[in-house]
Amino acid sequence: MDELRDASLLWTPAGWRGDAGLELAAGRVARVVPAEPSGNGGWLLPGIANLHSHAFQRVMAGLTERQTHAQDSFWTWRETMYRIAARFDPDSLHAVAAQLYAEMLEAGYTSVCEFHYLHHAPDGTPYADPAAMSKALVAAARGTGIRLTLLPVLYMTGGFDRRPLSARQRRFGHDLDGFLRLFESLRAIEDDTLRVGVAFHSLRAVPPEAMAAALDALPPGIPLHVHIAEQIGEVQDCLTVRNARPVEWLLDHAPVDADWTLVHATHLTAGEIAGIAGSGATVAICPTTEANLGDGLFPLRDYLDAGGAWGIGSDSHVSVSPVEELRWLEYGQRLHTRHRNIAVGTDSSSVGETLLHGTLASGQRATGQPVGALSSGNAADWITLDQQAPAFAGARPEDVVDRWLFAGNRPLVREVRVAGTTVVADGRHRDRDAITGRYHRVVAALLAD
Ligand SMILES: [Zn+2]
Repeated sequence: MDELRDASLLWTPAGWRGDAGLELAAGRVARVVPAEPSGNGGWLLPGIANLHSHAFQRVMAGLTERQTHAQDSFWTWRETMYRIAARFDPDSLHAVAAQLYAEMLEAGYTSVCEFHYLHHAPDGTPYADPAAMSKALVAAARGTGIRLTLLPVLYMTGGFDRRPLSARQRRFGHDLDGFLRLFESLRAIEDDTLRVGVAFHSLRAVPPEAMAAALDALPPGIPLHVHIAEQIGEVQDCLTVRNARPVEWLLDHAPVDADWTLVHATHLTAGEIAGIAGSGATVAICPTTEANLGDGLFPLRDYLDAGGAWGIGSDSHVSVSPVEELRWLEYGQRLHTRHRNIAVGTDSSSVGETLLHGTLASGQRATGQPVGALSSGNAADWITLDQQAPAFAGARPEDVVDRWLFAGNRPLVREVRVAGTTVVADGRHRDRDAITGRYHRVVAALLAD
């Protein structure tokens, strides 16, 4: 045994326990052990998994909020994104990802799924090491201490009509052989906090036969992520070319199961909701990005009624906070339905507890890592909340999660551990100053004309 950790309150799949502690060994929870309520062990919760991230987009936050056209949309935003993507190299990607991952840890995310398509040099030429950009992300994750599920992205065509990649998209592209070589080279560096899966960028970027060939060639049981049905425009294009809506097409043509995560399954029919829920796949909902981009509203209540698995992602990083993602997931529904307290389950009438249970329950299958519950054999990845904060004045255990998620904007995460190692203490990442100092220099150079 490496360590015994008391908890004043320990969050479990059944809710809070006041009589338990953790025995740790080699970065894992060896056992949950009976403990006297000590009052000083803190309120311990499993860290949150961030199911969707494009690290480089962190520098764009706040840069796309001026109107360029009365019909500004995802598609005009994407032009800015491509311009900024063209400026990155492995060193700047490392600096930006390190800042982002430190922010995530301070906010309570202890693992991140990085949906990574910035593979090559800006003109599309592979780097001397074709995995250089991927390895920059791995180095940032290892340096900051966040658990990483790296999802190299297969990106082949510029639209459903199979048009070639545009000049700006060329650095994203691979043929299947090159992509599989990249995947294998990354699998070779997996360790206890790094898992490698695969992402298909979208149905518009991966032709049907290429997706089938990739699925044949890849090992079973890896996390598989895909952008799906984020925009009405892509739903319409998919209907025109493939004679089916994106989710409908995917469920009919791919072996979708619990290994799959469908990112932005925003535009769904009742049949598609039932289909995803029945498949066991997870939907990654990114409420602040989906709001920022004007994507649309995920049909949360119907999806919960169907028993679907879901989690959250910070995606474009206009916000790096599980509190804000979960809060806006609920608020979007309230604004739409003009009712309150929408996301409640059969186990709890608390919105906060229902949201927390939901997002923790999907962590393991979406990341492919032993996260989401502090139980025997799982990762010793946890956060503690600041019991001294005014938001928690007079809180009973059953109030704590609702207070955390729905009371103000002061950061309430105090301590963060990943694989048993302390990465955030007193609310500050262990290397915050050095990481942020470098981030200022790198971003100033990156954005300079
Ligand atoms: Zn995305």
